[in-house]
Amino acid sequence: MTLHQGSLKLASLYLAVMMAISLFFSMVVYQTSIHELDRGLRRPMTVYNTPIGPGFSTSVRQGLIDEHEAQYEEAHDRIISRLLIINLLILVGGGALSYYLALRTLKPIEEAHEAQSRFTADASHELRTPITAMRTENEVALMDPKLTLNEAKQQLQSNVEELEKLTALSEGLLRLAQIDNNHLQKTAIKARTISEAAVDRVLNQAEGRGILVSSDIQTEDSVIADQPSATEALVTLLDNAIKYAPDTSEVTLLVQRDGRTINFVVTDQGVGIKASELPHIFERFYRADSSRTKQHVDGYGLGLAIAKSIADAHHGSLTVTSQLGKGSQFTLSLPAVTT
Ligand code: ADP
Repeated sequence: MTLHQGSLKLASLYLAVMMAISLFFSMVVYQTSIHELDRGLRRPMTVYNTPIGPGFSTSVRQGLIDEHEAQYEEAHDRIISRLLIINLLILVGGGALSYYLALRTLKPIEEAHEAQSRFTADASHELRTPITAMRTENEVALMDPKLTLNEAKQQLQSNVEELEKLTALSEGLLRLAQIDNNHLQKTAIKARTISEAAVDRVLNQAEGRGILVSSDIQTEDSVIADQPSATEALVTLLDNAIKYAPDTSEVTLLVQRDGRTINFVVTDQGVGIKASELPHIFERFYRADSSRTKQHVDGYGLGLAIAKSIADAHHGSLTVTSQLGKGSQFTLSLPAVTT
């Protein structure tokens, strides 16, 4: 069903409810008005009709009765026509309003549905690519009658690498689903604890590339956070800073309190991100051109999407500024414990 068809269906429902209410009140108004009319116009007529009434001649009395009767009919018709006009106006105006409201109601649902379909398509594509590669390589190896033990081992090694990637991908997908469902246990946890744990997890990787990771923790305050998730988000930022930086460069982590939040600012001297790509890097499966072309930089474009979901689930934020060729700065803000 298209958005237009769905909106029409929902609008008809809204309009039916609106018209039912309007008709009900019209009936009430009609009954009350007729009752009032009866009291106001019919009563004098009964007076004219009684033998003990004022001493009008028969023709004068009949004239008065006819006049009142005419007034009654006229007032009655006026009430009906006004109620009809009001209901017609509600039908037309309400129809337009219902369609507008239905569109507004369905638009976000439609967008969420589209995002979900895109996500499923992207996920299947990412899962299928290594599986297809593995299958082809294995089939070629199996068909080779002169396959040596060494070559077979190489093939197995390549399979293990692909399987590791698939495991990382499925874990990433699972993680996204969990954060979406808000499986977080928030407690007060020192910003320092999160920072030190995160830096610890990337030190080996940084040392391997001769990259210096320095941290400047300027607050002893705590954040309200799910410790593993907050650490994971920060590890993603540090990991990316290292991944997309040249060997022997420097990555810094600055932790500062800023009013009601604590900011974790990760700065690198890496490849940077194009301004046109900046709005997209938090989307699932998005990888900027620079990282796509650099074959040695592994990833599925899920890290920042997960980190952003974590920030959102904490009512915090994740923002970025970057200069192509100079470096990037990512800021994770989490709510501080109020003192
Ligand atoms: P990936 O697994 O590709 O690193 P992410 O979601 O972590 O996925 O990042 C999305 C994209 O954002 C990356 O592919 C890369 O192009 C860009 N990016 C992220 N962090 C940085 C950084 N520190 N420097 C340059 N580009 C970055």
